[in-house]
Amino acid sequence: MGFIDEINRRRTFAIISHPDAGKTTLTEKLLLFGGAIHVAGAVKSNKIKKTATSDFMEIEKQRGISVATSVMGFEYDGYKVNILDTPGHQDFAEDTFRTLTAVDSVIIVVDSAKGVEAQTRKLMEVCRMRNTPVIVFINKLDRPSKDPFDLLDEVEEELKIKVRPLSWPIGNGPQFKGVYNLFDESLYLFEPSKQVLEDGISIKDLNDPALAEQIGDESADMIREELELVNGVYPEFESQTYMDAQVAPVFFGSALNNFGVKELLECFLKIAPSPQPSQAEERVVDAKEEKMTGFVFKIHANMDPNHRNRLAFLKICSGKFQRNTNYLHVRHGKNMKFSSPTAFMAEKKSIIDEAYPGDIVGIPDTGNFKIGDTLTSGEKLNYKGLPSFSPELFRYIENADPMKSKQLAKGIDQLMDEGVAQLFTSQFNGRKVIGTVGALQFEVIEYRLLHEYGAKCRYEPINLYKACWLESNDKEQLEDFKKRKLQYMAKDKFGRDVFMADSAYMLQMAESNFKNIKFHFTSEF
Ligand code: GDP
Repeated sequence: MGFIDEINRRRTFAIISHPDAGKTTLTEKLLLFGGAIHVAGAVKSNKIKKTATSDFMEIEKQRGISVATSVMGFEYDGYKVNILDTPGHQDFAEDTFRTLTAVDSVIIVVDSAKGVEAQTRKLMEVCRMRNTPVIVFINKLDRPSKDPFDLLDEVEEELKIKVRPLSWPIGNGPQFKGVYNLFDESLYLFEPSKQVLEDGISIKDLNDPALAEQIGDESADMIREELELVNGVYPEFESQTYMDAQVAPVFFGSALNNFGVKELLECFLKIAPSPQPSQAEERVVDAKEEKMTGFVFKIHANMDPNHRNRLAFLKICSGKFQRNTNYLHVRHGKNMKFSSPTAFMAEKKSIIDEAYPGDIVGIPDTGNFKIGDTLTSGEKLNYKGLPSFSPELFRYIENADPMKSKQLAKGIDQLMDEGVAQLFTSQFNGRKVIGTVGALQFEVIEYRLLHEYGAKCRYEPINLYKACWLESNDKEQLEDFKKRKLQYMAKDKFGRDVFMADSAYMLQMAESNFKNIKFHFTSEF
């Protein structure tokens, strides 16, 4: 198969949802179709139970699971599918944000009884920033659900994207009879006890008496009426508006019952984008360019604390990646080659000789990589990662064992490279502040510093509201601001100036007193 064919047949995506909406279940069903797993239950739920915030075994287990399920590749119908897993726990939202930089599209799972939930809204913001095409799967129709029109309104309003249903549910809960698939114009009947996949019944014309024969007069009348409304309200599906991230196609089904999943997958493969151009700081790189380029979007520490080996996840953006070939590590300005890059097929990790755009390659690493690092065939390119978001929680981190200050510094440095949390260094007194999305990260850091680096840390409270990255064309005012607010100024890990506002009020005051400075909650603008 030629290089271009290899690219065209790749689909690299992530499934995102609020915890419990059914992401793990859907992933598992997709893997079953791909023959990547053979029994249900093989995919471990990649989540930390809410009660387990202090259970470090649980965190360790989670880390193990998330290596195994970080990337799941399989072949289906001539396509090479790469599913990138994202942690469900909201304290690890940063991980998910970064993973979203490595995908070409996203499937969003929504619980049909709960509708759009908080975590989904947040993740959708990232998709919107990057113009990532999304498909929505409304799950759990076998349970009493909200009205489908209400659900669609909710998706449009909460996720700020237009929708176009491509399937339509017939009833829900105990009365759930199936879906009419508008994409292939077929009726799919639901039988809860039966997980055997039945082919759809082709019904191109809804006035076909076959419809009522299958689902009864009443349901047939209802669906005719509803679909008339659907076709009146929502514009025809066009793949371009989906690709442009303007419109999200919507499917209804029940992942647990493997209902609606195959149709979702088959439509997805047809309409979802193959590897797209990637934006580097210098230029846009087309996936079909021959020279290899890629970036690291995730780093995973080894489970074995005695070996400080890590696995860097490299997303191939262009060209063919080859084993034992020299590539430029752009930040270090040095060539490196890799003798044992791994690919993730099904549940197995195996050494590969080559990989194509859209693929994820695991590179064993002893500390050379940071999240966001770019590898190329020689060009000095820097892929734009995702901006840093202001953390929600902040604490001073201090050394609790004076004999181990080197270990502590190294540990903090490496954990920040992995993206466990963000580090800010005060410009005023040099103290280090750790910023996180959730409280769990502080525990993870303390635990890992001790177990992997033999270092002891101690946290001290600091009262901060937000970290703000500064933008201004008015150099004078910016310098003036930095001087006056020195106490509140810090550097992020890239050496950028950050204003650590201690309250919303303080920020408001700064904004009104320094009109030529913009205060951003993200590091790229
Ligand atoms: P995640 O947190 O989004 O990964 O959600 P899971 O896939 O772990 O699912 C959460 C719970 O919902 C589990 O108990 C699933 O068995 C259940 N579930 C998932 N899909 C369905 C469905 O279609 N119908 C019903 N009734 N339950 C489902």
